[in-house]
Amino acid sequence: MAFMRQYELVERVKSYDPNADEEALNRAYIFAMKMHSGQKRESGEPYFSHPIAVASILTEYKLDAATIITALLHDTVEDTPASYADIKELFGEDVANLVEGVTKLSKVQIHSEASKQAENFQKLVLAISSDIRVLLLKLADRLHNMRTLYFCKKWEKRQRIAKETLEIYVPLAERIGMQSLKDEMEDLAFQNLHPEAYESITSRLSFLTEKGEKEMEEVIATLKKDLADNNIHGEVTGRQKRPYSIWRKMQKKNITLEQIFDIMAFRVIVDTVAECYQVLGIMHTKYPMIPGRYKDYISTPKQNGYRSIHTGIIGPLNRRIELQIRTKEMHQIAEMGVAAHWEYKQGVHREGTQYRWLRDLLELLNHSSDPNEFLEHTKIAMYQDQVFCFSPKGDLITLPKGATPIDFAYAVHSGVGDTCVGVKINGKISPLRTILQNGDQVDILTAKNQTPSAEWERIAVTAKAKAAIRRYLRAERRQQLIEAGRTLLSAAAKEYGLTFSDKDLSVVLSQHKQKTIEDLLAATGEGLLSATDLFHQMHPEVKMSLYQKTMSLFRKSPEKQAMLSTGKSMPITGLFPGLSYSFAKCCHPVPGDKIVGIVTTGKGVTIHMQDCPVLEKFSDEPERWMDVGWNDEILKDRSLPVRIKVTLADRSDSMPELMTVLAQQAAPVSNLTTQKRSEGWMDLVLDIEVRDRNHLDTVLQALRASEKVSSVARIKAG
Ligand code: MN
Repeated sequence: MAFMRQYELVERVKSYDPNADEEALNRAYIFAMKMHSGQKRESGEPYFSHPIAVASILTEYKLDAATIITALLHDTVEDTPASYADIKELFGEDVANLVEGVTKLSKVQIHSEASKQAENFQKLVLAISSDIRVLLLKLADRLHNMRTLYFCKKWEKRQRIAKETLEIYVPLAERIGMQSLKDEMEDLAFQNLHPEAYESITSRLSFLTEKGEKEMEEVIATLKKDLADNNIHGEVTGRQKRPYSIWRKMQKKNITLEQIFDIMAFRVIVDTVAECYQVLGIMHTKYPMIPGRYKDYISTPKQNGYRSIHTGIIGPLNRRIELQIRTKEMHQIAEMGVAAHWEYKQGVHREGTQYRWLRDLLELLNHSSDPNEFLEHTKIAMYQDQVFCFSPKGDLITLPKGATPIDFAYAVHSGVGDTCVGVKINGKISPLRTILQNGDQVDILTAKNQTPSAEWERIAVTAKAKAAIRRYLRAERRQQLIEAGRTLLSAAAKEYGLTFSDKDLSVVLSQHKQKTIEDLLAATGEGLLSATDLFHQMHPEVKMSLYQKTMSLFRKSPEKQAMLSTGKSMPITGLFPGLSYSFAKCCHPVPGDKIVGIVTTGKGVTIHMQDCPVLEKFSDEPERWMDVGWNDEILKDRSLPVRIKVTLADRSDSMPELMTVLAQQAAPVSNLTTQKRSEGWMDLVLDIEVRDRNHLDTVLQALRASEKVSSVARIKAG
């Protein structure tokens, strides 16, 4: 097949675009020829014939010079040493981006089993295109490859390409209204997929055409006379049915070729919309109408912008006739679709367009005055809010833009999501937070014992993944809270030398709003209920105040008993023998704290910390103040309660960590209350037991070291 010479191509472009950059066109022609030199097509022709043919197809649509230049260069980045940077340097960014778009599209390949996902593949193509010219380039590229597909020796490859054409590119051509390109691709695909059926239909067709040609001419002549009688200038043509549409009709309606050919199809092309309806009126008056065939796509255009009147009549020679009536402009648009809009931008109605991107496109057509401006600035949003990725098997998964492998994993199956440990993107191990790109092949790695991490909730963007992760974390958090509740209640029981078991809670269950023992344990673990209070409800006999508990700690050992009864070796120095004392409930002093005693008549001495704010009240009564101190000797190995406030991250793993730190520091918790929660943090008040001030400081330091803890403070008055 002879291909278009350089000067022919340039002349062709200049014929419809006199301002086209001739010099760049010439350079592109030579550049492509050089880059592809030595390469051959399967037909044996130089490879270079292909880009020229694609460029030539696009000149039929009168596309701008950038598109024609891109057509010449479209395979150079993929198949020759030329790079994006080279193209950008030599031909500018616009062309480089177009070439890049076509190169990306060349990587889209439909998998044989993936037919049911054809629509997603169409969307993928649109998403990658992002510029309507990329799509037009791809369609022209595919059309030429289809025209030469019979050279391909591998049967499987031919089948795959033909099927892909039928499932992806034909519908896309139809969507943008490129009827003639669509028809041709369809027939070529049919020819390759079902060569025998194609042969038999075309040979029957040519036989019937010969036979019917005379009839067709007679009908055309009669219809032309009908128009002339009414002073309407119009063109009338008879159409031959296409092999693919005949075959499809035969499949669908189970009828013979003769029956299909029996219906002749004609097209009347006039100047104005008014004339279209005039012709319709003439036809319906003169000839009987076939019911159910009348369709007005002028008042209600098809989604792809197609407009025409269709009707069926028993026409001249008593033949059943299919009639299409349209204006020249409508015809141009019907044949060339989006590409025709460059020339016909006026007066085209675009109502009823379902596809947002197409509506945007047509909107743009309406508002840009210069056709070249339209071409240069049409960056239409075609599925730009979605990203299309493949599984290793070739299944296509559609995700929102910004999605990560976590989303992909949950889109495959929640079981895959839950056990996800890593990901290979396009064969490379990648972080789970990687943002997926169009066309990525995503291989999720799983491990049996893996569980979702709280981190994932931030990484995921799909509702499905987020919900699954949250569901899992909630269950996990609840389990941890139940465990924490058990620990707190056991600690409370231990205080009194008792043991705790879950079923002890059954007696107090009715007093609380919780439904089950587990709920009660979880509420305790979360600090919504006080373990000490619960314990006291279970064992009213041991109910005691913090002060009483403090004293009980001293009373527990015989050594302490002796100490208290003799008055000698009291834990506090500076008191008179026999004088009773207590530790202040406001500040809970522990050994090591500087302390002072306040005498209350009839009650004894209360021991405060020297910086306890409560002491303010006694500033006018110096006679009540007593100088006291700690008897270090006998306080060894004792512990006293102190109250602390902790601000903790409101997360499922925070509470268990808090408990672990306190256990490691040998500072058991005897009570815990949640004060408030906000913005991911919660304030807790805890009573812990410490030996002395040093011990307390160590515990506070250990708590501060935990990343779950925002702040820790001892409460000196509360
Ligand atoms: Mn190509």
